[in-house]
Amino acid sequence: MKIKFYGTSAGGGIPEIFCYCRVCEYARQHGGKDIRTRSQAVIDDCLGVEYPVDTFAHTAYRGLDMRKVRNILITHAHHDHFLTADILSRPQGIDRVNFYVPEASGRALKASIEKQEEAYRNGTRKKTCDFSVSVHDLKHYQTYDIIGYQVTPLRAHHQDALDSSLYIIRKDDKCILWGFDTGRFYEDVLEYIKASGVRFDFVVLDCTLKENEQITELHMDLTWCREMADKLTEMGAVDERTRIMVSHIGHLVEKTHEELCEAAARYGMEVAYDGLEIEI
Ligand SMILES: [Zn+2]
Ligand SMILES: [Zn+2]
Ligand SMILES: [Zn+2]
Repeated sequence: MKIKFYGTSAGGGIPEIFCYCRVCEYARQHGGKDIRTRSQAVIDDCLGVEYPVDTFAHTAYRGLDMRKVRNILITHAHHDHFLTADILSRPQGIDRVNFYVPEASGRALKASIEKQEEAYRNGTRKKTCDFSVSVHDLKHYQTYDIIGYQVTPLRAHHQDALDSSLYIIRKDDKCILWGFDTGRFYEDVLEYIKASGVRFDFVVLDCTLKENEQITELHMDLTWCREMADKLTEMGAVDERTRIMVSHIGHLVEKTHEELCEAAARYGMEVAYDGLEIEI
């Protein structure tokens, strides 16, 4: 499995638009890995993970070609993961895109599609392309076949009202855990992983917060990421061959990319950055 990260930031991105903090200043001056756009990745050039506000920027400046990524998995409907306003356009030469979305997070897009269809039906809008969007509801703890990937949504400790999800994504003998946005995993998630007997080749976790300064239960810092990795290790889902990475990184972390890499290494973890491509 190949995983390419296009965006690795938390909600605000780095630099945050109005921010003068040290991390944002450093990013403005140095660019490179210190610039973080909103979370988006593509697996094997065909399965998208997230459709954030920066999808356009990734398309314009980062070589992201969503025309080849017709199947997109969404964790939840926050703008840094799912910007529905940037979907219902009039593209030419493409017929359908599929979004796989936790049920509650898909409702707004479904309503927009229905509104558009109604406008086509009643003639207030003229249809000028064949493009259509399908929203596939996902329920926690059910496994779906999405273009040959076995995908299982798990209940994230984030926004219950949006059915926020983590994902187990499997193909052939490879398996990854997509672990954000979330605070410390709910017990039922850990029980599910344990009972399923799964072993992860790659785990990517939410690291929005400053080390040891957990200002919310709904995201994690390095210590909580390590705590989750330890729980997964205890049950055999993670072992010495598993790559554990942190992502969804905002300026709240109060570290430049290099500083965060050093800190994460002390916890046995790596740090994702925009443009990173890994093979597992
Ligand atoms: Zn987020
Ligand atoms: Zn800042
Ligand atoms: Zn969120």
